[in-house]
Amino acid sequence: KLASREFSVQSTAIRLGDAADTVIGGRDLVVIAGPCSVEGREMMHETAHAVQRSGARLLRAGAFKPRSSPYAFQGMGEEGLKILAEVRAETGMPIVTEVMDTRQVELVASYADVLQIGARNMQNFPLLTEVGRTQRPVLLKRGLSATITELLMAAEYIMAQGNGDVILCERGIRTYETATRNTLDVAAIPVLKRETHLPVMVDPSHAGGRAHLVAPLAMAAVAAGADGLIVEVHPHPATAKSDGEQSLEPSAFASMMQQVRSVALAV
Ligand code: PEP
Ligand code: MN
Repeated sequence: KLASREFSVQSTAIRLGDAADTVIGGRDLVVIAGPCSVEGREMMHETAHAVQRSGARLLRAGAFKPRSSPYAFQGMGEEGLKILAEVRAETGMPIVTEVMDTRQVELVASYADVLQIGARNMQNFPLLTEVGRTQRPVLLKRGLSATITELLMAAEYIMAQGNGDVILCERGIRTYETATRNTLDVAAIPVLKRETHLPVMVDPSHAGGRAHLVAPLAMAAVAAGADGLIVEVHPHPATAKSDGEQSLEPSAFASMMQQVRSVALAV
């Protein structure tokens, strides 16, 4: 299998940015940060500058949102993608954004540096095939109730089309526990690092579902060997249009970065 350690002993490193100086799966921990959704130009600029100052290398934000309710905010669509492109031009930060539908792959790929496949689409095989035909790296999130093997087979769908730049993302799984939004499967990190040569990132925001859980889960992920983190940050979490409860204010993100750095130095 293309994702397996037997296929390639060498770890996959994905280079991004104008100078290709951001390396996912390299020696350094890479942090992706930004709001759950693009909500407007001002808040994107403000958040991007804040997270960049704290050491985030890539900017995240959804323009097409997979919401549980069809009546909830669905994202800004192409207007949101245009704002992201503008912020990239200004900051130099590569953009990570979700694509939900095969019909939008070409559009999203024309703006994004990394295509995000959301947990709810991990086994949308036509979508995996379509992103596999692009040249863009893919951040593949683990499904809500997917096994590690199913996550790896989803990666195979992308790689089988010729796109080997797949980043795996553990974002918590459904269990009987309700005190957290999902249960972060910390063990998935060393299991994946052993089985595959692909980079492994962790999303502590969607795992914990509450802001106060983000830093401890991020530290656990780094201690367990994660190559990077994807974290939700919002300038005013209380009024966020999606995932405000789990979003960090820029100042809390800055302290999380310090904590995570000290863990990274220790491992
Ligand atoms: C997100 O990143 O905002 C998101 C919807 O994540 P997930 O697909 O992991 O739920
Ligand atoms: Mn979110």
